[in-house]
Amino acid sequence: MIVITQPNADPDSDDFKLLLAYLENKPNIRTNIHREVGAQQTLTEIYLIGDTAALDAAEIESMEVVDRVVRISEEYRVLGRHKDDLRPTGFDYNGVTFSQDNLHVFAGLCAVDTPEHVEMMMKVLREHGQVCTRMGAYKPRTSPYAFQGHGKECLPWVFELAGKYGIKVIAMEITHDSHVDEINEALEKTGNPTGVMLQIGTRNTQNFELLKIVGRQQRHPVLLKRGFGITLEESLNAAEYLASEGNRKVIFALRGMKTNMGDPHRNFVDFAHVPVVKRLTRMPVCIDPSHSVGSREHSPDGIMDVSHVTAQGIIAGANMVLVDFHPQPEKALVDGPQALRMEELPYFFEDVAIAREAYEKRVKLRKKQEF
Ligand code: PEP
Ligand code: MN
Repeated sequence: MIVITQPNADPDSDDFKLLLAYLENKPNIRTNIHREVGAQQTLTEIYLIGDTAALDAAEIESMEVVDRVVRISEEYRVLGRHKDDLRPTGFDYNGVTFSQDNLHVFAGLCAVDTPEHVEMMMKVLREHGQVCTRMGAYKPRTSPYAFQGHGKECLPWVFELAGKYGIKVIAMEITHDSHVDEINEALEKTGNPTGVMLQIGTRNTQNFELLKIVGRQQRHPVLLKRGFGITLEESLNAAEYLASEGNRKVIFALRGMKTNMGDPHRNFVDFAHVPVVKRLTRMPVCIDPSHSVGSREHSPDGIMDVSHVTAQGIIAGANMVLVDFHPQPEKALVDGPQALRMEELPYFFEDVAIAREAYEKRVKLRKKQEF
């Protein structure tokens, strides 16, 4: 059960203390208070854990300081959607709003290689009015002999270039908790020119200790990739690890599943789960068409599979697209064969806009129906 207090309720007020005393008096009930400080207001949620079936929700709701009481199911306590749950589906970070109602494209380099390539990428993004990108500094690779990413060495110049081109959020994978410290140090050193969305890759979806540490920091939001060989439920529980430790700024990414049933795609595209994740949880949902498809193949209509699946995810309501681009894919150090080229970027964005418009029309159409 969650008790949501009136907006801006003061924890030192008599009413608030009365509520806590009331709850603490109940047998077998533990309370866990979460305060979300926003630009407009501070929201306080009191999680009641234990024998909540015996509690009288109406009685709690009648208390002055209480706005409402939400009975939650056991699963996805923090990030889940519960009955009569009117809590928001998103968050703001560094001036950008992420929610289940909007869409952002994170086009960029799978792996940071040279300052020239990073600058070319960011320049094109600015020309297209974009404020988000993806840039991999730490690359988890199948082979120990493959390029592992430039690591912390590249962070200062990547962040400075982001600042120069007005990039507000960079999705960047981390594979170890020390990477969070390295990112924070580089941000301080360069005067915080940009923001970072910490990406947990599919190989680390169930690295619970990493999830707990990343969940305990609340400075940066987290992009959690679905595990490529586990159930959706298991991956959603991984997201809940982040939230239960305190960080609810979580976006859930679908990136295809590892099975040869999806051949010839690199992974079996799972974007049919976009509406499912939006129904089960309040997380914005990202799709990664590049790692799902893994090639630049196109169908007889001339449209690349990467673009087809992007449109399929967006028309189903996706809120974020993580997509690999590269100024010279043949020279890319990681995942060149699936990268789109700079000259394809305007078409990609136009295609994204068509699919988004179609999604919005579909939502309007549904609203017109009365059954
Ligand atoms: C990536 O986005 O660069 C990546 C490695 O993705 P995934 O974890 O989905 O394989
Ligand atoms: Mn990659």
